[in-house]
Amino acid sequence: MPSTSFIRLDAVHKTYRLGETTVPALRGASLELRRGEFTALVGPSGSGKSTLLNMIGCIDEPDQGAVLVEGRDVAHLSDDERSQLRNEKIGFIFQSFNLVPVLDVYENVELPLLINDRIAASERHDRVLQAIRDVELDQYVHHAPDKLSGGQRQRVAIARALVTSPLLVLADEPTANLDSGTAHRLIDLMLALNAQRHVTFFFSTHDEKLMARVARTVYITDGVISGDTAAEPA
Ligand code: ADP
Ligand code: MG
Repeated sequence: MPSTSFIRLDAVHKTYRLGETTVPALRGASLELRRGEFTALVGPSGSGKSTLLNMIGCIDEPDQGAVLVEGRDVAHLSDDERSQLRNEKIGFIFQSFNLVPVLDVYENVELPLLINDRIAASERHDRVLQAIRDVELDQYVHHAPDKLSGGQRQRVAIARALVTSPLLVLADEPTANLDSGTAHRLIDLMLALNAQRHVTFFFSTHDEKLMARVARTVYITDGVISGDTAAEPA
């Protein structure tokens, strides 16, 4: 059976306007991600990494070009379909963790499931605890984020991204605020979740040491894809 590509970007352009000036963030970026892949997106600061991830995550939309998820152009989805894609099929992990400080670990992880009223309370409870177990934070279920280390907070963010059982997890420089040992353990955890739960990961970084840990690296420079280890001959 021919498989349609999982995620595809076709010549995506995005320009930000700041008063009189325009800032081109993406200038014809094209890319394909296959289901189950674990891919790093690498480029200097300002090269368009966050903009690219936001396009795939339907947080922002292209000026030109298209983003296709499972063969469907996301621009042609209804508002409901697009929010369902964003809320249930794609998990996000941000550099600054973005946890809600007044909520404990359990409540932070539960948040994405509260948007979806079709999930019964008992199933929600099971899923939240499973996601917390998956990131090995069982001992911290009722801790507030400010009682946790940076690495633990980022693991809460991973649990929150995984609790909806998304097809894809996008992570924007998830290790940028972590020391090197903690960063490597976080990658270990993401690799294990990729292998065991078949979660597709696409994460940006500019840490050379982390690139060596991943199967595929996509390079971005000045808003275009400038290299891709998957495209190189073996
Ligand atoms: P990276 O994540 O690789 O650092 P970004 O995607 O954040 O790159 O930014 C790409 C370019 O777009 C940069 O020049 C940045 O200054 C600009 N940019 C990003 N977001 C905005 C915005 N909301 N308004 C104006 N310019 C932006
Ligand atoms: Mg960025």
